[in-house]
Amino acid sequence: MEKRSFFFQGDKLLLPADFPDSQINEGLPEEFAKYFENPDFFEIPAIDEIPASVAASSSPSSVIRAVSILPEAALPENWRVIPVRQILAMFSAEAPDGNPGRILRACHIAQWRQDSRFCGSCGAQNNDVQGQAQRLCPRCGRSEFPRICPAVIIIITDNEDRILLAHNKRFKNRVYSHISGFNEAGETLEATVAREIREEVNVEVTDIEYVKSQPWPFPCSLMVGFKARYSSETLRPDGDEIDDAGWFSRDNLPELPGNGSLSRFLINQWLKGAL
Ligand SMILES: [Zn+2]
Repeated sequence: MEKRSFFFQGDKLLLPADFPDSQINEGLPEEFAKYFENPDFFEIPAIDEIPASVAASSSPSSVIRAVSILPEAALPENWRVIPVRQILAMFSAEAPDGNPGRILRACHIAQWRQDSRFCGSCGAQNNDVQGQAQRLCPRCGRSEFPRICPAVIIIITDNEDRILLAHNKRFKNRVYSHISGFNEAGETLEATVAREIREEVNVEVTDIEYVKSQPWPFPCSLMVGFKARYSSETLRPDGDEIDDAGWFSRDNLPELPGNGSLSRFLINQWLKGAL
């Protein structure tokens, strides 16, 4: 079985400087493990290879080795560091398989593994479960799986062919993006959509529909893209998270999020008339 490795420091991917960008989502072949002293390999199936129709009966032909390298560890000579967010821009979000799925999976797992060394119930040191993204407490039997926190992101349109975009206070640049936010415990995703829009810009929407999702391992989200139509109330930024918001037409767009992100995908689809 082929074993491909991904080395991370937090949410940054580590690579030999001359490793080609075109093969970045494949991972590094086995011989590259020698560059790190006793790397702590955690092996999981490469789920992107399993066709959905046979997923239950088939096993993948390769595994991903997700390796978390401690922040203070020195890099091998002539290696480079790439933020995983930056890697997204190398892939076309328009394509059905446009996500660097293996990197996103490995990045999520590597960070989860760092954070799940001890049982959350009794504090004992967890054991790995062979071949699965699972850890097991030897003392109390508690299983631990990677946490996935869904967040919604919504493209809001009005009857004048405009979209609502907002500037978040946390953004260091002048980029305007969609309203987004985390799903709360006990809440449907549709309710999250309506609540976040109401809280952040005081607007009510209708016709809430799912569009597309994107794994977002920073450190453990799944971005769930929706569209919705404006129905009532006056646009008013909350001043807390959102410091400015507006309705933008096609010929009057502000600075937009980068390619490869779900937010930019939603805008591009709207520009093409597909939303
Ligand atoms: Zn325990």
